[in-house]
Amino acid sequence: MNVQEARLRNAVADKTSEQFAPDRSSVVQRTAAVAAAAAEEAEDVDRDARFPQKAIDTAREQRLLGIQIPQQFGGDRASIFDITDMCYTLGRACSSTAMIFAMHQTKVACLIRHGAGSDYHEALMRRVASEQLLLASSTTEGQNGGNIRFSAAAVERTDAEISLVRNATVISYGAQADGIVTIARRANDAAGSDQVLLAITKNDYTLERSLGWETLGMRGTCSAGFELKFKGSTKQIFPEAYGKIHAQTMTPVAHLCWSSAWAGIAAAAVERAQLFIRKAARGAGGQMPPGAAHFTAAKMTLAKLRAMITANLDTYAAHEHDERALSSLDFQSSINLLKVEASELAVATVMSAMRACGLSGYRNDGDFSVGRHLRDVLSAPIMINNDRILTNIATASLMSGVPASLRD
Ligand SMILES: Cc1cc2nc3c(=O)[nH]c(=O)nc-3n(C[C@H](O)[C@H](O)[C@H](O)COP(=O)(O)OP(=O)(O)OC[C@H]3O[C@@H](n4cnc5c(N)ncnc54)[C@H](O)[C@@H]3O)c2cc1C
Repeated sequence: MNVQEARLRNAVADKTSEQFAPDRSSVVQRTAAVAAAAAEEAEDVDRDARFPQKAIDTAREQRLLGIQIPQQFGGDRASIFDITDMCYTLGRACSSTAMIFAMHQTKVACLIRHGAGSDYHEALMRRVASEQLLLASSTTEGQNGGNIRFSAAAVERTDAEISLVRNATVISYGAQADGIVTIARRANDAAGSDQVLLAITKNDYTLERSLGWETLGMRGTCSAGFELKFKGSTKQIFPEAYGKIHAQTMTPVAHLCWSSAWAGIAAAAVERAQLFIRKAARGAGGQMPPGAAHFTAAKMTLAKLRAMITANLDTYAAHEHDERALSSLDFQSSINLLKVEASELAVATVMSAMRACGLSGYRNDGDFSVGRHLRDVLSAPIMINNDRILTNIATASLMSGVPASLRD
């Protein structure tokens, strides 16, 4: 099925389910209000490695935390296009806010796409929309690094009760979140790759801090380590196996939202470089400064980055309801390569912006400083390490064919 046919199929599926989606201009305004709050505190958030409380409070006031939830559960049913645009806009204002928003929306997407039909998960969707709950993510565990498809901690079962104790090396905004979506081994006797996904809320778990978050960048994500102890009901386990959720939703939505947030950071650096070059040219009677070529390079890599994200967005949106297409080697390779390439392009863009600005970009205290952007964006290639992703998809890349035309 090509992209056009898939779009038509989605349109029919959409018409039969729900008619309304949020008004675009209202979404733009609501996002702008959050971006303004985020920009105002971005420097403090970075300096003090503190949670961007004002930005997230504003996101709650603007009801953006539940904007993706279908209307029948109290949300606005925002599309992946809306969500990624929000990540980009927030990325231009404050990287940490954008990344927190991106991670939260990825968890919400799992809830929507894989929780429908389960009373517990539907009730949680209603709560996210009405109470504007903030959901965090727990995938990294022990010494396992970014190997998400392997879990050590297992769900323990006693009748309908379950429990989980997890050495969570990193949970961004774990202390501030109202709930966590976590992976775990299905049972004590299950293989590490036989995983389930659980949605748990604050009253079901405790977090004991095991590691701090004194990092180069993305300091406001407050991604500390915790021992997570949970007790709850089997109903909190998603009905579908994690392997399927991972391929169909977790990876595509995470990679699209993260890439959009990184593109936002890159765009903010390009904007500063543009202001610098304009000022320098004005000061030299119209003569372009020598760093101008780096500004052009920054614009060029930003254009590539945006094109790559939008191409993957179109493909994902076109096949959103087509499990087979989402599981295909081509789609999986492409959505994984998006993460790798977007993270490299974002770093390259900010680096070029820095070189365009020279010392004015390097210093931390001027209008053209891009130091914060560079430190933040350097998290991109290591957030699920690009080397790991490239190794993992090597076989799949070999098996998928070379395209026969430019568009297929
Ligand atoms: C800003 C930020 C926020 C985060 N938030 C969260 C969160 O909320 N929840 C969460 O669970 N996790 C979070 N993480 C962690 C993230 O999901 C990854 O688990 C983590 O970045 C991987 O860390 P690592 O590089 O130490 O581990 P690894 O992935 O193990 O990598 C370690 C080293 O080994 C190399 N390597 C690993 N595998 C291979 C391979 N197959 N081939 C070649 N080289 C390889 C890598 O290149 C790297 O140099 C966050 C990370 C960042 C940066």
